[in-house]
Amino acid sequence: MTSGNPTSPPVAVAAPRRRLALVAELVQRYLDEILAEHADVTDGALADYIPELTRVDPSKFGLALELTDGFAYESGDARTQFTIQSISKPFTYALALDRIGNDAVDRKIGVEPSGEPFNEISVDDRTKTPKNPMINAGAIAAVSLIPAADPQERFAQILDFYSACAGRPLDVDEDVYRSEKASNSRNRAIAYMLQSFGVLDDDPDDVLDVYVRQCAIRVTSRDLAEMASTLARGGVHPATGRRVTSAAAVQRTLSVMMTCGMYDTTGDWVTSVGMPAKSGVGGGILAVLPGQLGIGVYSPLLDENGNSVRGGRVCRTLSARLGLHFLSVTRESRSIIRATRDVAPRVRVYELHGDLLFAGAEQTLRTVENDRADVDVAILEVSKVDDINDTARAMLAGMRESLTAVGKEGYVVDPDRRVIPTDGRSAGAVVFGTVEDAIAAARDHVETQAGNANRVG
Ligand code: GLU
Repeated sequence: MTSGNPTSPPVAVAAPRRRLALVAELVQRYLDEILAEHADVTDGALADYIPELTRVDPSKFGLALELTDGFAYESGDARTQFTIQSISKPFTYALALDRIGNDAVDRKIGVEPSGEPFNEISVDDRTKTPKNPMINAGAIAAVSLIPAADPQERFAQILDFYSACAGRPLDVDEDVYRSEKASNSRNRAIAYMLQSFGVLDDDPDDVLDVYVRQCAIRVTSRDLAEMASTLARGGVHPATGRRVTSAAAVQRTLSVMMTCGMYDTTGDWVTSVGMPAKSGVGGGILAVLPGQLGIGVYSPLLDENGNSVRGGRVCRTLSARLGLHFLSVTRESRSIIRATRDVAPRVRVYELHGDLLFAGAEQTLRTVENDRADVDVAILEVSKVDDINDTARAMLAGMRESLTAVGKEGYVVDPDRRVIPTDGRSAGAVVFGTVEDAIAAARDHVETQAGNANRVG
């Protein structure tokens, strides 16, 4: 594999992170801390049934998280390239659903967890079709369902679709492709079995060649986060706003990822992480929090099930620490900022509502950050917030710290002290009981700042 190959095309990256110091620093700190917590873990082994995969650097460790508006955070080796392997499976499945519709796909591939290893040479006893698209049999069948005149055109469509989701042109690691191609008896057995059951209409070797090529497509953790965020937005690319696949295809794909995405550990994954996800033997994991964000992690040492050891740990910690389990965040589907109003020169009130969890707090802080040229005091009115978690609480407190560092202020209006309690957990937040009191303090601050500026001038 050619991780870090200097001749690799440059990775296109969205907004420059450093411009948004306030939010970037807070969220960045979380991600860096989480990565550091697991950095010393050296358990696991490189996948060796594809010989070229044993040549990757086992120490690489990268994480990226992208919100559904296209803003991304990176930590560690988030730009290291690796092969997508099985993380390709949900994307080709989505492409097949999009092109020929659910019914035609369902006639060839089931949606039930298999309870068997990913490369099992088997079909469903009753239907004689692969049990689901996340095992090799189902993934090979999915490739064959992409309408195309020949294998080249089929692969081109797959590559174009993955690239559209990642927001940059992806390419193939030819060494990994050749290596898997030369050691591929098991997948050949699967492809010929599928042909014998009438699942594959095309030549099994041609279909398999496209499958092996798609597994060798190179991505970074940052790419995976962007691809995940595209799924989180129901098929709309987060940075461009362009629809790359249908919402129906994404819904179906995420459902199957939820039930079959993590090899034989899916039940444990759903319970402890609670995000539809897919891992690959290249060491990547992609996880999706629908409506909110996408995550990409890379660390090539795998456990006995084929999942990245450190990748899995990072996802568990992220989910617990940031409150990302999909069953705990279903209520947060709308914008957390209900309204903003300018109440005095350079003083703006942000009225928040709903559940203030990680993504909502991130969105709020980023809005405050973006307004910094016009606003000296940001007042967050949180009395209509239903629920808040510790992460969001700490982020609100951290907001003030960052603002005061540049001579600005951030206040919270929280009459019942529900959101920012008095137990010291959110030390640093300045809390008022009424908006009027906060505005009065804000005016004083603006006047004092102006006075200081005049004296200096
Ligand atoms: N190319 C690999 C195979 O088909 C992908 C397996 C995986 O990542 O699970 O065996």
